[in-house]
Amino acid sequence: MIAPEEFKEDVLTLAKDVGVKPREIHIRTMKRKWGSCSSKGRLTFDRTLLNEAKEVRFKAILHELLHLKYPNHGKMFNSLLDTYLRKNINSNDGREIKDHQTPNENEDLT
Ligand SMILES: [Zn+2]
Repeated sequence: MIAPEEFKEDVLTLAKDVGVKPREIHIRTMKRKWGSCSSKGRLTFDRTLLNEAKEVRFKAILHELLHLKYPNHGKMFNSLLDTYLRKNINSNDGREIKDHQTPNENEDLT
């Protein structure tokens, strides 16, 4: 488990990489989702993510950050998500990102 501060730092680091500026980052208990993104740039992440593997956190953070660029799950959103996930795999000794507990991404992450 990592500290919420650590998690927020990861979000900010990744945000720089993606080129977005989240206005607020919140961590709280969410019932059905791992994250949400408001139109005003406020990101909220589920507390249980602090217990998840780095790859899982990365994916959830990235997903919400990209919503600051694209507020939907359209073609551009998905191809950009793909690009960053691939980039991460490459810089990670070719280890694959596990699609852990995200049977339907569009429903679990908004
Ligand atoms: Zn989403």
